Amino acid sequence: MSNEFLSIEDLHIHYITQEGTVKAVNGIDLKLNKGETLGLVGETGAGKTTTALGILRLIPNPPGKIMDGKIILEGRNLLELSEEEMRKIRGKKVSMIFQDPMTSLNPVMTVGEQIAEVIEIHEDVNKEEAKEKAKEMLELVGISGGRAGDYPHQFSGGMKQRVVIAIALACSPELLIADEPTTALDVTIQAQVLDLMQGLKKEFNTAMILITHDLGVVAEACDKVAIIYAGEIVEYADIESLFASPKHPYTQGLFASIPSLDEDVERLNPIKGLMPEPTDLPSGCRFHPRCPYAEAKCSEMDPKSVEVGAEHRVKCLIYSGEVSGKGIENE
Ligand code: SF4
Repeated sequence: MSNEFLSIEDLHIHYITQEGTVKAVNGIDLKLNKGETLGLVGETGAGKTTTALGILRLIPNPPGKIMDGKIILEGRNLLELSEEEMRKIRGKKVSMIFQDPMTSLNPVMTVGEQIAEVIEIHEDVNKEEAKEKAKEMLELVGISGGRAGDYPHQFSGGMKQRVVIAIALACSPELLIADEPTTALDVTIQAQVLDLMQGLKKEFNTAMILITHDLGVVAEACDKVAIIYAGEIVEYADIESLFASPKHPYTQGLFASIPSLDEDVERLNPIKGLMPEPTDLPSGCRFHPRCPYAEAKCSEMDPKSVEVGAEHRVKCLIYSGEVSGKGIENE
């Protein structure tokens, strides 16, 4: 029997604004198995959060619109479900942790009430039972159940994020989408929150999509990685293959820009240039204006995704033999 839990096929999401059409997601394909963690990595504006909101059908419409594609969750295309059916899926089957706990929590409700609310909506329990379960969830994320009556402002940043995780896990979702869950936290708390999420994921066999721009977080927490650039997945691989041998010039640029403890360099090595305007994407390969290996064909041909290993795909003309890739490091 297939272990496949989620499959995204040729997903396109646009925002239609007065300034033009923002092409945020441009043909994304992804697969996720039960219990697996997929890292979605890219710069700000690459389309990571839009993809996640698309899975939950939470793209604000207008101006956002899912233009094309399929999001198959356990055999059902979410894009064909009614709003009522989607409400049953959100929070129960698929849950999301947002980047900033301050904006995810309601300041005028106690944390216990906020956890209990999700449980009451999705499970066949009364108010008292939901309250008790809310306390258990707090304990599970390392906060005393006795603090269920406290308000968000009475908690530190790291504890607030733990509360958000407790809400997201309250109904044991099968898929957890975590959007930069540790970015707003300091480094020691980041490690604690990541450990906590890993532990809970193992306990409940939850599949996870972890959105981040931090390759260190990916190395620690993910089984597979998709590198996103300008709304497209330019490289997809299992974690070992990606870290042993990144193939796409953009991925290589991301690795080259990480500071190294072994080398004493005066300046870091950033990727030149900026992400293109999503209202005015370059022709051909979207990365060609910034790519050190670009040749004339790169601005004319849209690269296809090419298999370079068992679970390793790259969207670059070097790997389909269309351009030479002279000078690229490629073991
Ligand atoms: Fe660079 Fe060309 Fe490959 Fe795009 S297709 S990443 S421009 S070499």
